[in-house]
Amino acid sequence: MSIRFVEREGGPAIVLTDDALSAIDKYRQIDMKAKESGGQMFAKFEGADTIIVEATIPKILDKRSRYGFKPNKMLQRLEIYDRYRKGLHFIGDWHTHPEKHPSPSDKDISNMAECFHLSIHNLRAFVMVLVGTEPVSGGLYVALVKGEAIVHLIKETNPCLLMDGLR
Ligand SMILES: [Zn+2]
Repeated sequence: MSIRFVEREGGPAIVLTDDALSAIDKYRQIDMKAKESGGQMFAKFEGADTIIVEATIPKILDKRSRYGFKPNKMLQRLEIYDRYRKGLHFIGDWHTHPEKHPSPSDKDISNMAECFHLSIHNLRAFVMVLVGTEPVSGGLYVALVKGEAIVHLIKETNPCLLMDGLR
């Protein structure tokens, strides 16, 4: 099932599809020795919503440790060109943290801000997804990065589920 993340209920959503979520879910650092993982996220736009249809997985050339993830920049660029030819847009990154409720480190924020400023794009923001040890259905930290400004998004309450509850 996909999950919608919004700044406020009813507003434009960042939608993580089932495909993207299940790709990410496999890399949660549940094992005490598991290293950080990460990848890029590619989306299509539907009305005001951004639909993340693919989250790519770590590459053999990425540098990974228990508390660090440094992707190979060259492979990242190739991935962006490849997906762009398929009509998908790079909209941000995801990576794991070995903690239950992940929050961005100062380095995470400065990396994303730098990426946002240096990239040639016409997006108003990049998306940052942090994956904790909890299942992705509840353990994700999702934010919009607009330069130095970070906007933490909330999981949208599903109106259909609310109605089910009332029945
Ligand atoms: Zn981090």
